[in-house]
Amino acid sequence: MNLSKEDIVRLLVTEDEGERSSLIAESYRTKVSRRGDKVYLRGLIELSNRCRKDCLYCGIRSSNKAVERYELDDEAVVSEAMFAFRAGYGSVVIQSGERNDRAFTSRITRLVRKIKELSDGRLGITLSCGEQSYDIYKEWREAGAHRYLLRIESSTKSLYEKIHPADSRHSFEYRLGCLGFLRDAGYKVGTGVMIGLPFQTPENLADDLLFFKRIGADMIGMGPYLEHRQTPLYAYKDMLLPKSRRLELTIRMIALLRILMPDINIAATTALQVIDPMGREKAVMAGANVIMPNMTDSSKRGNYQIYENKPGVGEDAEITKSNLESNLAACGIGIGWNEWGDFDTAGVPAGRECRVPGQDGNA
Ligand code: SAM
Ligand code: SF4
Repeated sequence: MNLSKEDIVRLLVTEDEGERSSLIAESYRTKVSRRGDKVYLRGLIELSNRCRKDCLYCGIRSSNKAVERYELDDEAVVSEAMFAFRAGYGSVVIQSGERNDRAFTSRITRLVRKIKELSDGRLGITLSCGEQSYDIYKEWREAGAHRYLLRIESSTKSLYEKIHPADSRHSFEYRLGCLGFLRDAGYKVGTGVMIGLPFQTPENLADDLLFFKRIGADMIGMGPYLEHRQTPLYAYKDMLLPKSRRLELTIRMIALLRILMPDINIAATTALQVIDPMGREKAVMAGANVIMPNMTDSSKRGNYQIYENKPGVGEDAEITKSNLESNLAACGIGIGWNEWGDFDTAGVPAGRECRVPGQDGNA
């Protein structure tokens, strides 16, 4: 269905309870009729909190000297992936702080190949390792990764620039261009934004949804922005909406997106669970169909605190799995065991919007 920017803004801010519940009901109906009522699980492996970037909102930014840096060794990554495989998760997501050095990029290639080999090609691999060159994205794609998550954070350039340092390592145009590289390299392309950022307006959020539709994203991960004391953006904490309102806005963004893009994969993100223990399940009832349970070793989870009060720190993968399964069962939500859960959106070619200036003809 097409919704205008004005419709979206109105539905994001309406205080009419009837209008709100019709939106959620319509979104849920759309999801069930187009994608079924199951959720797909992607086991999340937080490979490393070393990052070359300094995003003003993120707890593991390079300037935060209070963070103890870690890197999982190959054996740990492979064993977490195999745990997910045996548990029937269907896919894993390897996420990391951003690094572009050859030691890092080759390691990802090696790990992707190894996991593919050990799972006989059956475990789907999503990567979320930040901005890279077209050649590196291609190398990882050829090794066997088939989806990539790179949030645009905000599709409004002026807002993006308020939440990132003003230097060449944090270029809005390059990040946008990476979405084009990913499409050209043959990935299912995932992006997303944070919701409830300081300076962000309902109009900005409406533009984000229309941006996702325009570029033909295959997957979207949107979560509430959660302030972190050890970051520069914390200085604006008094401008923020209450957390309950950020949760509500996220739920409505998910519902609106499902109506705008009925077939895509939409994640119920962990940040929702920080605000409400059942936040992810509520997102599923509003149109989300993907959950990414954490597989990372309990001794390392505490060091991957992009925001504070991250849930499940100290928990191991087995406990995360059984807690999630019982919460989903309590809500009557089924799981797509051993399924990748992709939908063939035929990959809309990235338009001019997703091109790195001066680097035309990526493919
Ligand atoms: N480094 C890669 C990147 O930036 O694309 C992947 C890891 S990064 C931690 C994944 C996502 O975490 C970011 O895209 C951002 O949206 C989210 N994030 C970072 N800090 C956050 C915060 N304070 N609140 C909510 N989400 C946050
Ligand atoms: Fe690094 Fe990603 Fe955090 Fe930015 S959001 S500082 S790129 S880990």
